[in-house]
Amino acid sequence: MPGAPRRPGTTPERIGARGGAVARTAPERIGPQRGAVARTAHGSGPGGGIKVGVLALQGAVAAHARALSESGATPVDVRTPDDLASVDALVIPGGESTTISMLLESSGLREPLAERLGAGMPAFGTCAGMIVLASDVLDGRPDQRSLAAIDLVVRRNAFGRQRDSFEADLAVDGFDDRPFHAVFIRAPVVERAGAGVEVLATVAGRPVLARSGPVLVSAFHPELTPDRRLHQYFLEEVV
Ligand code: GLN
Repeated sequence: MPGAPRRPGTTPERIGARGGAVARTAPERIGPQRGAVARTAHGSGPGGGIKVGVLALQGAVAAHARALSESGATPVDVRTPDDLASVDALVIPGGESTTISMLLESSGLREPLAERLGAGMPAFGTCAGMIVLASDVLDGRPDQRSLAAIDLVVRRNAFGRQRDSFEADLAVDGFDDRPFHAVFIRAPVVERAGAGVEVLATVAGRPVLARSGPVLVSAFHPELTPDRRLHQYFLEEVV
């Protein structure tokens, strides 16, 4: 059933530290990817060579950079305020939101990042990145601070123990009929989405992909599977 989580253990889908099994079990690309050759707005070719930062403090940085360049963008690791100033948009990867939050402070990035987001810089947060961008975080560390770039209440690690990691085929609003195979690793649950938040996909009735203006968030890891439609959607529709 599309959208229903499958329990780990029945197929080789439990995710190791680097998600190696995921790449092998992920669906092959079928036909041309939607929009793969359509982009012209930011330059020539898909993705237009637009400079998209990947917040490179901790987490799944390299896989996002690869997904972005496969989608035609130019990925840039962002570790300093100067790096941030050089990009047109930013991906905040999965990892540990508590750690990312701490490193945002020590790197001096929190303030300039909050400013850029306030000025409408497009951002795509995945898993921990979604938590970092949310307005309210439940079950976080007391000193964990989120950026409040999207009106969401999220609860960390809330799919429960048996569902620590699972995969699900999502029906994504606006995508073609092919389901989007999504990998969830200790994913946050959205407890509440604000009125201005557009929910693009759900699992068990919970939003797992959502957008509010220039901010896109997913509770899962689109960079770990070969399907590039979500990165392309970010580049084409959000940036
Ligand atoms: N559980 C992590 C957190 O709370 C998120 C996990 C992930 O990004 N895969 O930050």
